[in-house]
Amino acid sequence: MKSYDFLVIGGGSAGFNAARVVHSLGKRVAIVDSARELGGLCILRGCMPSKTLLYIAEVLHLAQKGKTFGLKIPRASADMKAIHARKKKIVGEFASYRDRQLHSGKYDVYRSHARFLDPHTVVLADGQKLRAKKIIVSTGSRVSVPSVPGLAATPAWTSDDVLDLDFIPKSVIVLGGGIVACELAQFLRRIGSRVILIQRSKNILKDHSPAASETVQQAFRDEGIELFTDTSLEKISGDKREVAVRFKHRKKTVTRRAQFLFNALGREPNTLGLDLANAGVKLTDSGRIATNRFQQTTAPNIYAAGDVAGPHDIVHLAVAQGELAARHAFGMKKLNLVDPSLLLNVVFTDPQLASIGALETDLKHDGVAYVAASYPFNDHGKSILMDANYGYVKVIAEPKHGRILGAEIVGKDAGELIHCFSGPLAMHATVFDLLRAPWYHPTLAEIITYPLEEIADRVGAR
Ligand SMILES: Cc1cc2nc3c(=O)[nH]c(=O)nc-3n(C[C@H](O)[C@H](O)[C@H](O)COP(=O)(O)OP(=O)(O)OC[C@H]3O[C@@H](n4cnc5c(N)ncnc54)[C@H](O)[C@@H]3O)c2cc1C
Repeated sequence: MKSYDFLVIGGGSAGFNAARVVHSLGKRVAIVDSARELGGLCILRGCMPSKTLLYIAEVLHLAQKGKTFGLKIPRASADMKAIHARKKKIVGEFASYRDRQLHSGKYDVYRSHARFLDPHTVVLADGQKLRAKKIIVSTGSRVSVPSVPGLAATPAWTSDDVLDLDFIPKSVIVLGGGIVACELAQFLRRIGSRVILIQRSKNILKDHSPAASETVQQAFRDEGIELFTDTSLEKISGDKREVAVRFKHRKKTVTRRAQFLFNALGREPNTLGLDLANAGVKLTDSGRIATNRFQQTTAPNIYAAGDVAGPHDIVHLAVAQGELAARHAFGMKKLNLVDPSLLLNVVFTDPQLASIGALETDLKHDGVAYVAASYPFNDHGKSILMDANYGYVKVIAEPKHGRILGAEIVGKDAGELIHCFSGPLAMHATVFDLLRAPWYHPTLAEIITYPLEEIADRVGAR
């Protein structure tokens, strides 16, 4: 039986980065991955393909509203075969780079499913057994199919299918209002599909503030997405030609039909067939692998990181958790614990929605004192000249010294702008610190100075 210092089950973002750190210590590392193609979700079917397509859709959208800018662009439209080819090429290049990294000779790579026999031994699909002193489970997540009547029996796309489209669907019903649902619903609408989005909660993107969600909702409606919120699904039916979704909305029964159904109701941790109980690894109530703050599971030599551990399906957290697990497992000094007060979220709709640190709703709920100020993009020079009028910047600070607690940006390139706060928040900066920095004119970023100044006035006046 082959023996290793470190065994990685799942070589995506979390697993690969854990392997990289442990290899740098001169340890023997093996990676087991059951995927047909190596690279992990982010590269193959997550962040990179979706952002490639969303950027193309944004360029198309700008071209289509060329008149606003005094441009004559007669007919800008999506050439789906070319879009698909571009996406495949870009993703293929990222994946082959990762493949080369995995096969650089630093790791023994096994292309197989792994399951536990005991806390130190896994068995592969062909019966081969591997032993390791330390093991990390980084098996990611998979699409969940909630128990909605008819859903399991009706042909439905997942995000994998939408990301792989090479034609323009006539019409699509999107189930769900989370990040993946919203980003891809807008993509579909912008390439020319009729899109109906049905969300159970009162607002789409419900993990964000109601004001932020409502701004994105308004933009969706303005672009022609038929949006239903506060619904309850009753029945789904259909075949390859047409699907129908019946749901309750404002006490009425509504039915919508479309050519395709896109199940974007969520993902669940991928613990299938791992036989975690054989290793003494326990799950949380939500089905994630339970870990302590070092990503250590209930079996002390086994760690878990990324989507399978959560609590957020975000790739920079998967990477950070993988690295933290590796450093802790091998007794390295300087453990960079994942700091929940620096939670950074981006939704790549247009307008984008981004937040970092504390949200106002959480502070209110916890009874924490704060001051907040915001400023709208439709009153800011640079965004007006770009016709990027949706949204606002909101800054939240502690009331005594003005230390920044959080920020929320909804608007053009919010996912870039939010990084104006990442460093300052990590360094516990105050609004006064940020106002000492230079802000170039005219930029989108300088809008941030308005709420900063308002808070500085209010804090200074105390
Ligand atoms: C459409 C979409 C868009 C997204 N966009 C973003 C974004 O813009 N920004 C962002 O931060 N996040 C985004 N995410 C989320 C992000 O992709 C994930 O959080 C991240 O990729 C998870 O990494 P991971 O290492 O936990 O898992 P993965 O990368 O999924 O890796 C898990 C690996 O484990 C393997 N595996 C599973 N079970 C076994 C087993 N038993 N034995 C062996 N191997 C196994 C799988 O084959 C896979 O390769 C997006 C997700 C989706 C679906």
